[in-house]
Amino acid sequence: MAYKVKFVDYPRHWEKYKEEFMTVLEDRLSRGELVIRQDILDFEKNTAEMVGTKYAKGLNSGFDALHLSLRALNIGPGDEVITVDHTFLASIAAIALAGAKPVLIDVGNDFNMDMELLTTAITPKTKAIMPVHLNGRMCDMDALGQIVKRFEDKGQKIYVIEDAAQALGAKFNDKGAGSFGTTGCFSYYPAKILGCFGEGGALTTNDPIIDEKILLLRYHGVLRDPDRTQKMFGYNAVLDNIQAAILNVKLKYFDRWVARRREIAERYRLGLSSVQNLKLPHFDDSRYFDVYWNYVIRAPRRDELKQHLEKEGIETIIKWLTPNYSYDWYPFEFQPLPVTEKICREVISLPIYPELSDEEVDFTIQAVKNFYA
Ligand SMILES: *Cc1c(COP(=O)(O)O)cnc(C)c1O
Repeated sequence: MAYKVKFVDYPRHWEKYKEEFMTVLEDRLSRGELVIRQDILDFEKNTAEMVGTKYAKGLNSGFDALHLSLRALNIGPGDEVITVDHTFLASIAAIALAGAKPVLIDVGNDFNMDMELLTTAITPKTKAIMPVHLNGRMCDMDALGQIVKRFEDKGQKIYVIEDAAQALGAKFNDKGAGSFGTTGCFSYYPAKILGCFGEGGALTTNDPIIDEKILLLRYHGVLRDPDRTQKMFGYNAVLDNIQAAILNVKLKYFDRWVARRREIAERYRLGLSSVQNLKLPHFDDSRYFDVYWNYVIRAPRRDELKQHLEKEGIETIIKWLTPNYSYDWYPFEFQPLPVTEKICREVISLPIYPELSDEEVDFTIQAVKNFYA
């Protein structure tokens, strides 16, 4: 059906910036600047600067950033990595496919890792914690840092791999997502907060040894020296130069896009806060700077609300209908997670992106209000 308000709108985005995109594409394609050229180096410099780390490496996807983080840290069979169930399956897949065991814990009311549950999940086998900054809001990195330090003081080194795939630009205590952990992992899938025209990702770190390992792991184990020395087996997981060139163009607009997202979130808040029993994603705590990749509300009679909005021509999505551990093929042991299960029954994401107009937001607000009236 033709929606009046779409959940994402790639054509609208393209229309607005196409001259700039076409100029860059024409130039790079006509000169054959395709694999690991200047645009990648520029993109990495821009990304490190923006996130607040010494290094960044362009990769093929957010999954690659997570997976190669584990590979670079030699985490695999016999090791445990703690993360949440309430995330895109890719976070858990990266752990499983590295050969380690994912240990899933519950989340709090802001959809992020419940740090009070973290300590009890740590065992002598725990090698890393993967906090997921969901929907453009960071995890409580103070609490996480304190727990990690307590174990480090007792002689157990635990790495932190930040899944920041939904949180580029988000901050906690004025520090960027992806700058707290051993590594930070980003995705540039088209619908993400900063999207390229296909698949893309990045890894940030302050550790020169990890940065160097990622350089090898991402491209066939080849050192970028004049002799192209083979140093190890590697993957092919490098960001396309064309995508890097596009991302460099888009980065100029990023702050404005985030500001617009926050404006839309505020408009939803003003419009919807009078609706009884609707829980909105605003959490009073000045340590957080949220970028609202998603605007996720918790709604009574959620499935009926979705149908109502669909009838009104408003496209919404539900992430996620069920916990990841509930798939019948899920191969690891798990504890049922009550908050995660409750969230799966209540959440629905409303449209939010920079090109969305105030009229479309107001139309959506009115449709939600009508449903509950
Ligand atoms: C999108 C996403 C990923 C995976 O990123 P890809 O670029 O699609 O591989 C991982 N974790 C979270 C939380 C995501 O939203």
